[in-house]
Amino acid sequence: MKTSDILIIGGGIAGMSAAYFLAKRGKSVTVLEREDQPGYHSTGRSAALYSETYGPKIIRKMSTASRDFFLNPPEGFTENPILTPRGVILTAAHGNEGAIDELLTEGRANGANVVALTADDIKKLIPILNTDLIACGALETDAMDIDVHALHWGFIRHFKKLGGDLVVNAGVSTITKTATGWQVTAGGETYEAQILVNASGAWADEIAKLAGVTPLGITPKRRTAVMVDLPSDVNAHGWHMVSDLGEGLYFKEDAGRLLVSPSDATPTVPHDVQPEELDIAITIDRLMTATTLKVNRPGEAWAGLRSFFADGDPVSAFDPDSDDFYWLAGQGGYGIQTAPAMGEYAASLICGDGIPDRMVKLGVTEGALAATRPGLARTA
Ligand SMILES: Cc1cc2nc3c(=O)[nH]c(=O)nc-3n(C[C@H](O)[C@H](O)[C@H](O)COP(=O)(O)OP(=O)(O)OC[C@H]3O[C@@H](n4cnc5c(N)ncnc54)[C@H](O)[C@@H]3O)c2cc1C
Repeated sequence: MKTSDILIIGGGIAGMSAAYFLAKRGKSVTVLEREDQPGYHSTGRSAALYSETYGPKIIRKMSTASRDFFLNPPEGFTENPILTPRGVILTAAHGNEGAIDELLTEGRANGANVVALTADDIKKLIPILNTDLIACGALETDAMDIDVHALHWGFIRHFKKLGGDLVVNAGVSTITKTATGWQVTAGGETYEAQILVNASGAWADEIAKLAGVTPLGITPKRRTAVMVDLPSDVNAHGWHMVSDLGEGLYFKEDAGRLLVSPSDATPTVPHDVQPEELDIAITIDRLMTATTLKVNRPGEAWAGLRSFFADGDPVSAFDPDSDDFYWLAGQGGYGIQTAPAMGEYAASLICGDGIPDRMVKLGVTEGALAATRPGLARTA
């Protein structure tokens, strides 16, 4: 039997960022991860973008609150910078010009570096685009690529240095309430702790059920990504990412090829999700409509799960009916770019220290990340 202050279920970016900040606060922490590779699920399947204009309001605040950690991580956290310049061009179709006006107004109000683009400007930047389909756009110059592996393993390495224990091949099979906290069996071992943190991504509701806690209704949604080769006369090096504001397509250059996604969000059940042939075909069709490219054979494709609470905002809070069960779930399509702030926020609340001051200054409130929110019912 191994005893810690805190047990975290899930060794993805959510679990490991919280684990790191808890260990920094002097807590003894054990992380239980079912797979042998902690980044095997959503964390290892993302598009790796950091954008302060992307996602709902609370996400944008947590992304901004993460920027300093990304740019100035602790000494020795990673060998190379976590963020590298990319920039993202957001485009609007005819009739949707208002979406760009809104993005520019709000982005500037939040301090993001965003500039308006005409269709001609966009054509000069990304010559393969069929800009007759585009009314206008905006460039967020400070959007960056995230080195997800470096970030995730930075958290893992430093968590371990602080005395934390990450156990892989440790799929949690039973969770029992005890007089002092929780007893959990995983991979044939038994673990005990006062506080249980549910950072199991798409499996968040399953873990709640195992613990006898009412599920919140966290829904995993499938998203597809496909690699596409470029013709030899197209040099995409240095291109910004391109994202259609109608959320029907995005692509970015990746080692001389394009990573393309149809921005799909198909509700499913938690599992080792694989790409569907139809979604791959839709991806290629949308890419060929949006650009001058002819794609005969798509390259490798993958899918990942983005998990959402009903209103699209994440949950980082103790369960209202179980004050030693902490939800860290529903990060949607933003769990990497918000990980430093979300991890620090969770650690601070778990230790009873309240919201970190710099997040309070950004307008982050406990209510925004609470496990039950006005108008949102739990689903049993
Ligand atoms: C195609 C795609 C593109 C994306 N692009 C971006 C992007 O550009 N920027 C961004 O910020 N985010 C992006 N995301 C979202 C991001 O990947 C997720 O928000 C994030 O990875 C969620 O992290 P997590 O730790 O909650 O989940 P996961 O990485 O899935 O980790 C949960 C872990 O819990 C473990 N687990 C589950 N059940 C058990 C159990 N019973 N016992 C033990 N362990 C268990 C799982 O094995 C898993 O490793 C994208 C996602 C996808 C799919």
